[in-house]
This record gives sequence, C-alpha cells and structure tokens, in this order.
Amino acid sequence: MRALRVHQPKLIRIDEIEEPQIKGDEVLIKVRYAGICGTDLHVYRGAMKDRVKYPAIPGHEFSGVIVKVGSEVDWLSEGDEVVANPVHPCGRCTACLAGRPNICVNFKILGVDIPGVFAEYVKVRSNNVYKIPKGLSLRNAALVEPFAVAVHSCRKARIESGDTVLIIGQGPIGLCTTQVASHYGAYKVVTSDVVESRLKLSKVIGADEVVNPLEVNMVKAVEELTGGVGVDKVIETSGSPQVLDQALRVLKPGGRVVLVGLCFEDVKLHSYPIVYKEAEIVGSRVYVDEFPRTLNLISRGYLKPEPLITHEMPLSDGDRAFRILEDRLEDAIKILLRP
Ligand SMILES: [Zn+2]
Ligand SMILES: [Zn+2]
Repeated sequence: MRALRVHQPKLIRIDEIEEPQIKGDEVLIKVRYAGICGTDLHVYRGAMKDRVKYPAIPGHEFSGVIVKVGSEVDWLSEGDEVVANPVHPCGRCTACLAGRPNICVNFKILGVDIPGVFAEYVKVRSNNVYKIPKGLSLRNAALVEPFAVAVHSCRKARIESGDTVLIIGQGPIGLCTTQVASHYGAYKVVTSDVVESRLKLSKVIGADEVVNPLEVNMVKAVEELTGGVGVDKVIETSGSPQVLDQALRVLKPGGRVVLVGLCFEDVKLHSYPIVYKEAEIVGSRVYVDEFPRTLNLISRGYLKPEPLITHEMPLSDGDRAFRILEDRLEDAIKILLRP
C-alpha cells in the first residue's frame, strides 16, 4: 500500500509498504479522509523522538471503510463506514482501571506510538471503532476526533446554561471548542487569538466577541466585554505560557480554568487569585467516551466541521500540505488528505 512516511525531520516521502496484518480482535480500514493535526507537525519536526520510530506514518484523525474484519469481531462488517478512537490504552494501569483510559500511563496513539492513518489502510482494535451515523458524510466524520477533544474539555469545564466562557486560541481545537461551548448553553462565548483570519472564522462559527491580544490588553478587554464581572469558565487551547495568569485574572470568583493546550515552558503566575477566588484549574486530555456523543452532535448539525476544512488534497500532496501548516500559509485550519 501507499503510505506517507516521515523519514527524518521535515523529510516526507510517499512509500510503497506492506499492508498491515490484522489480529482476531482488529479490523483493517481503508482510509478515506485523514486530517492533519498539531501532533502530526510535532512528528514532522522530529520533536517526539522518544516515542516515534522513523520512518513514521503520522495521522490519527480519520474516517474510512472497513475492508477486513478479525475472526473475533462479530459486530462490524466489511463495507461499514467508520471512525476510530486512535487512543490505545493498556487496560491494566490504575488510570485504566479507574475508567480513565485517556490518562493511561502506557498511553499509545495512532500516528505517534503506532503506525498512523496517512496511508491507504490502517489497522485498529475493533473496540475503538464507531459506525458513522446515517446521513453523516465521511468527509465531515473525519473531524470527529478534534471535536471529541472539544466536547471532553467543555465537560471538564462543567459549562452550564448561561455561563460566559472565554476560549483562548482559535486553532482547530479552539474553533471546535467555540462551537461546543455555544451548543452546551454558554450565554456568551469570547474567543482570543493573535491571527486575524482565525478570529474572523471564530465569529462565523459562533463566537459572540473576539479579542486579539496583540492589539488590546486581553484582561482589560474581557473585563469590558463582561461588564467588569469576568467569565465563569476559561478553556485554554493555545499552549502559550503567559495566558494562565491572564485567565485567572478574568475569572469570576468560583470559576474554572481548563487547560487543553500543551505548554512546555515554565509558567509564571500569581497564586493569589487562585486562593482569593477559590479558582479551579484542571487539565483535559483527549477524550474518554466522547466519540459516540460527538458523532451524534455532528450528525444532527449542532457541530459543523465544514467551515474548519480549508483544504482537501490527495495523499501524494502530503509534503505540500505539511509545509502549508508548518509555515502557516493560506489561512489553513484543517487540511484533509485523501489516501
Ligand atoms: Zn488531533
Ligand atoms: Zn492504562
């Protein structure tokens, strides 16, 4: 089969390799649409060397059609249109036993620890597979993964009807989160990003107010937009180190901050507002049981993948696709590859 492989940092080739062999509890899926995500860019840059074996096939966001079913799988058939949760937890660590496979200590994910979806075929554990509801296209279903991340983070934020929510960062995950927060009943969604085209899109897909911290003081702007009272919840998707302190400043007493974006730098913050406001700060990692829920929300039109898909290209153009995202060209948000 043909597969896009990263051979060394920033060197992509389309290679002819062996098709994966499935075990009894696995299925083989013909990949139809595969989205490029920030994690794939890390693999592309060579930033995850401790986990990735090069040459590596990245990719974990996808939809496809089942072409082979393992002998132990009696609930899926050839021809089923499906998506799959790319996380393969161990099932035996304390996190897994507590029903929290998303924080498994032996966490493995397609496209990083095991071969990914930028290939004609991928094999997946059958328990990770979900049939796509009728009426939902394979193209839109390919975005269930980033939307599931957003649904999980909004559940961690405990968004209630009437909340004011600030979502920091309007990349793909931030834009998904803006849609989910609106759907979860936020009365006002304020978003921030330093890229003007992303703020424009943010407004189109549901943000009530947008803030560009390069142009205005974010704390002051959010205070003004909320009549001086601040926000009930903050969801941080940018991973930038200075925003946690800002988030705590614009938070209402008793508010909650959810961190989704990864930051690898030291963060400087004043702990005073945490005590004074009894602020809660929690992390949110991938998803647990959010795939079926998210598929339902997309298929009913409550969440809309279409505005986020800025590019669709054949797998053979994968090198160009990665360069567009790496160099932040063409206002790209989500690029779908077609193997
Ligand atoms: Zn992703
Ligand atoms: Zn585990």
